[in-house]
Amino acid sequence: MKQRGYGFPRFKKFGQFKSVLFPQIDNDAIQGNEIKLPKLGKVAINLHRSIPDGFKVKTARVIRKASGWYVALLIQADVSVPEPMPHGHASGIDVGLEYFLSTSDGEQVKRPRFFNQLQRKLKSLQRRLKNKQKGSSNRRNLIQKIGRVHERIANCRSDFHFKLAHHLCDHAGMILVEDLDFRIMAKGMLAQHTLDAGLGQFVNHVLPWVCWKRDVYYGKVDPNGTSQECPDCGAVVKKDLSVRMHHCPECGSVKPRDVASGQVIRNRGLSAAVGYAAKENVCGVEVAGALPSQLAMKQKLES
Ligand SMILES: [Zn+2]
Repeated sequence: MKQRGYGFPRFKKFGQFKSVLFPQIDNDAIQGNEIKLPKLGKVAINLHRSIPDGFKVKTARVIRKASGWYVALLIQADVSVPEPMPHGHASGIDVGLEYFLSTSDGEQVKRPRFFNQLQRKLKSLQRRLKNKQKGSSNRRNLIQKIGRVHERIANCRSDFHFKLAHHLCDHAGMILVEDLDFRIMAKGMLAQHTLDAGLGQFVNHVLPWVCWKRDVYYGKVDPNGTSQECPDCGAVVKKDLSVRMHHCPECGSVKPRDVASGQVIRNRGLSAAVGYAAKENVCGVEVAGALPSQLAMKQKLES
């Protein structure tokens, strides 16, 4: 078995799989409130949205969640959607734990506190679990209840992420973030909080998706020393985590620490994005070392 490279066979056990994928289903699999699944036949469903015109149903994934069974359909159409180009107002975003995020425009969003209440509920339910007899229906019901709370926490978080991402896209044509590895952060002392806020999920999955949908350019920049630099004059201002305000001895700029690093991220991203735009530019305009104001000028000329 080692030589074949498949590893050791596993026994199946109850509750091992969360979903099953049907890689090919008929294009007319959905009729009314029924879906025809291979080998299973017709299954009644709640169709939340009809399949849009011009799309073909490719695959179906049946998912088991605590609140019930779901089927996710993958649909495809023959259109090519262009990647969003850098344009418009640029917004640099610094994520953290004191504030969930801070933008270069000075907006700071607090970490949502509604998890705490649900976490407390989760804890009390989990404490009750140890008194239940193995294999009893009371234990089974309690596990089901715990599953519902976990699902609710995940839903609340995802709702918060999507609303916030759309809010950011309302005010920007470019969104720039730090290229951080959140798996390392999640191992540190504040692991619980890092995971609870779902920073990695937001920055690496939700935000790029919403940006793509809203035609907002999404870019990642080098994260090294973003909090140690002055956004207004570029001087290096050393500060440790306890210093929450940015005071620049060179130019006298004073602003909240996270807003300052948001602005550094914006400046870095802008110089990278201008280079990207220049590559696409047939005339080959010299833009090396361009400043944000020059970019704005260039856009003004183009429009
Ligand atoms: Zn300065």
